[in-house]
Amino acid sequence: MAEVDGQVSEQAGAIRVRALAAIEGAEAMEDLQRVEREFTAKNGPVGALLASIKTAPPLERRGIGQAVNELKGAITCALEQRREALAADRLAAERRADDFDPTLPAASLDVGSLHPLTHVVRRLEEIFTQMGYAVLDGPEVELEFYNFDSLNIPGDHPAREHFDTFWCRSEAPEAASARLLMRTHTSPVQMRALERMELPFRAIVPGRCFRNETTDASHEHTFHQMEGLVVGEGITVGHMMGAMKTFLRELFQKDLEVRLRPGYFPFVEPGFELDVRCPFCADRKTRGCSVCKRSTWIELCPSGMVHPVVLRHGGVDPERYTGFAFGLGLSRLVMLRFGIDDIRHLLGCDLRFLSQF
Ligand SMILES: [Zn+2]
Repeated sequence: MAEVDGQVSEQAGAIRVRALAAIEGAEAMEDLQRVEREFTAKNGPVGALLASIKTAPPLERRGIGQAVNELKGAITCALEQRREALAADRLAAERRADDFDPTLPAASLDVGSLHPLTHVVRRLEEIFTQMGYAVLDGPEVELEFYNFDSLNIPGDHPAREHFDTFWCRSEAPEAASARLLMRTHTSPVQMRALERMELPFRAIVPGRCFRNETTDASHEHTFHQMEGLVVGEGITVGHMMGAMKTFLRELFQKDLEVRLRPGYFPFVEPGFELDVRCPFCADRKTRGCSVCKRSTWIELCPSGMVHPVVLRHGGVDPERYTGFAFGLGLSRLVMLRFGIDDIRHLLGCDLRFLSQF
């Protein structure tokens, strides 16, 4: 009896040593599951030891049962500990692999920015609305009448040759002046404003214009202008100069001289080229820079007193009312404001350029 008992405990001890070594040696959950199956299966070593109860003398069976239970308990306990250790190892490895650091700030999102043109248009709208101007809009596909005829540019007028126009194709033959085109300037909105606005009024019209031009660093087929129009009783060139000086002071944050040179545009009389003292070198002792091409003046916009013919086309009595108009080159102003040397950047979609603003 003692001999059989001793044999069982010896076998149990040997299984225990093998099982614990295998459990300790398991490097992954899969290994551990395999070890568990190997030792706890019915036909495994523990099962075989238990089966020996059947052939053992009755008095020894209790001893065998106890030995097997102790063995099972030891194996289960070792499996549980190893499982926890492996789970902790795996978590630590995952954290290392992700370089996971909960104290770091979250990754920033890529957000868009405003186009330089939008920056300038918004600023100009702000300045002019503070000066009592309305912001108007008009169609980009325009009637020939509004773009040319109503502005004192009849069909055979030589001034039309300055505008290389994109004409819209049409199926039906149209009456003269009813043809459609892509507007070549923002001036047609002058006429639409004269027709609709109550007098007196002040208005600006920022918008896109189109000309059939070969593109280069200073020419684009699509460009931006901002028309200005003020009509009322007793409006003079002095009012125009005052308005321009005020807006330039607001935009460049300094007082800048302006000057007028005679200019010819069919829809104004008299017409002027309005120049501004170069804001980039006005404060320096040595005047002149690359922006103003050493002249200290920058051509800002064509301007003038609204032609009586234009007022009459808009249903306004030129004997009673006068007005001034100007056509700011927005694209050019944006280039001046941000020091951009090629107009083609403005319509390009290069993010390296756009993300700077
Ligand atoms: Zn300059």
